[in-house]
Amino acid sequence: MKPLLLLLALLLSGSSIAQYAVNDPENIAQREQHPIAGPRNGGPPTRGFDMHYLRCNWTIDPAVQYISGTVTSYFITTAAVDQLVFDLSDSLVVDAVTLGGNSATFSHGTNDLLTIDVAGTLAAGTNDSVSVTYHGVPIGSGFGSFVSDYQNGVPVMWTLSEPYGASDWWPAKEDLNDKIDSMDAYVTVPVGNRSAGNGVLVSETTIGNYTTCHWKHRYPIDQYLVATAVTNYMTDTRQMPLVGDSVTYVTYAYPTDFAAAQYSANDVQQQILLYSQLVGNYPFADEKYGQAQFGWGGGMEHQTMTFVTGYNYELSAHELAHQWFGDKVTCGSWAHVWLNEGFATYFTGLCYEYLAPQYWAQWKQGKIDNITEYPDGSVFCTDTTNIGRLFSNRLTYSKGAMVLHSLRWVVGDSAFFQGLRNYLNDPELAYGTALTADLQAHLEATSGMDLTGFFADWFTGEGYPIYTATWTQDSNDNVTVTLSQTQSYPSVDFFDMPVPIRFSGSGVDSTVVLNNTSNDQQFWFHLPFAVQSTTFDPERWLISANDIIAEVDNPDPGTAQLLPYPNPSGNMLAWRTAGTHAAYRTATVLNAVGQRCLETDAAASSVDVSQLPPGGYVLELKGTEGVLRARFVKE
Ligand SMILES: [Zn+2]
Repeated sequence: MKPLLLLLALLLSGSSIAQYAVNDPENIAQREQHPIAGPRNGGPPTRGFDMHYLRCNWTIDPAVQYISGTVTSYFITTAAVDQLVFDLSDSLVVDAVTLGGNSATFSHGTNDLLTIDVAGTLAAGTNDSVSVTYHGVPIGSGFGSFVSDYQNGVPVMWTLSEPYGASDWWPAKEDLNDKIDSMDAYVTVPVGNRSAGNGVLVSETTIGNYTTCHWKHRYPIDQYLVATAVTNYMTDTRQMPLVGDSVTYVTYAYPTDFAAAQYSANDVQQQILLYSQLVGNYPFADEKYGQAQFGWGGGMEHQTMTFVTGYNYELSAHELAHQWFGDKVTCGSWAHVWLNEGFATYFTGLCYEYLAPQYWAQWKQGKIDNITEYPDGSVFCTDTTNIGRLFSNRLTYSKGAMVLHSLRWVVGDSAFFQGLRNYLNDPELAYGTALTADLQAHLEATSGMDLTGFFADWFTGEGYPIYTATWTQDSNDNVTVTLSQTQSYPSVDFFDMPVPIRFSGSGVDSTVVLNNTSNDQQFWFHLPFAVQSTTFDPERWLISANDIIAEVDNPDPGTAQLLPYPNPSGNMLAWRTAGTHAAYRTATVLNAVGQRCLETDAAASSVDVSQLPPGGYVLELKGTEGVLRARFVKE
């Protein structure tokens, strides 16, 4: 989902939309006490049953905040159970419950739970179904759940269940890790209206004053992605190309916005092909993708049918990306919601990188500015009862996106995108759920790198580095850089990152990547031109702020003018000097107490140190220019 700043404007202008963006922390906290953060995909299902299929029959008049209908849940028991528990708001009234077609007793109305007595015990492995007939006025949690409003004076209703609002309007099992394998929804609305829904529109049948819209969806779906919206939609259908395939795209727009919706479909067409090329084809290609207009100030990635407030390039890009990240692979815990929102935000950036590159640099800088506005905060969401924190634009969206960008920098493009494809296609994750460790494992597999430190610093850790780099270039064009960092917040001791610096001369430049692993770290390299200017992290791969890069005239002669490398060293130690080599005659290695261990001709520029015991040493060069000394470590 993506709330737009438009929402703020509407709040200020006193629009009726504002009242639905009200947080209800008490209700959320109560729901959090239910086992919604259950075992991950592949683990034992919660509450002793596993959801298989859902059939919804709803009657909705968009002019009235009211729902009535019957929801039938097909399930298989995974343990012996003597009751079945669903989530259902106390604001709704249950008229009848049947189990396997027979009337069942139930209790409901005190704790937002519907508890159904199975009259004895259902053995593990039992296939059965429960039908709940109910009616009432849904209340809204989170971002509204079920809302009746007006567009251009015409009634419109929509649902928006993320994160905990499905059971505000239907009897659901609020468990991210128990996706419903397939579903049908029959939505009966006053004639003249159409219902937008998940999957394929099978039929629209009008009898008397009512039209029933039948939507069929044959992919696993989480309860918060089940949705309907009803108004006098104008609709349109077109085919969009994918990689070696195509998908039907449907528009459900307010009549006044139909032209804008069709124009926006051109953007979607480019975006859906780009994403398919980057990470694999649109995951519900044999059904459809669509956008339906609704009145909430933003967008919501309902599976195969995004709801949007209006037509906006970034909103389209964001919600479309959720079909891969959020819908096909869903966060297995709300604490990991960045797996939905960080990706959707980052893929909006990739639309700029690949399709409108003139905006790419500005987009990245905007995200970094947003993240570094405050010194603290992790991508990992530590309080899932706090909806504001869960959907924090700064941490879950912006930082989540730029952490993915930094990951791409660390592992490289090929390992990054292959890792994402593998993550999306992993049979344990595809059309199921994932946690951050699953993403880490896939990126480690494709890159061959251990990313434990990266995720500790950037996923659970807080803050960001602030870099200081000083550099000098001698008359032989050798450049010495000293690189240090401080941290904006104490939770991370040091951010180990490859740090790019661009050195520019007249008509030439070179970007050097410095692997920053400690403070006051020195780097020495030759550039075949006189450096006139420098740019720190020119492509904005890093999350950092207030960085300083400066030329220094007088480096410390003991270190900057003699550079032993590699340091620490293994078998061979080499060195470079800022002046001419000819000025130095002998090179001597001294141990920690000043004893001479090795000596060679300085012009050799290297010495075999393989026989030296591990420890700290001094390299000393002597000659007509005097003495240079620098410390190094033998491993
Ligand atoms: Zn989103």
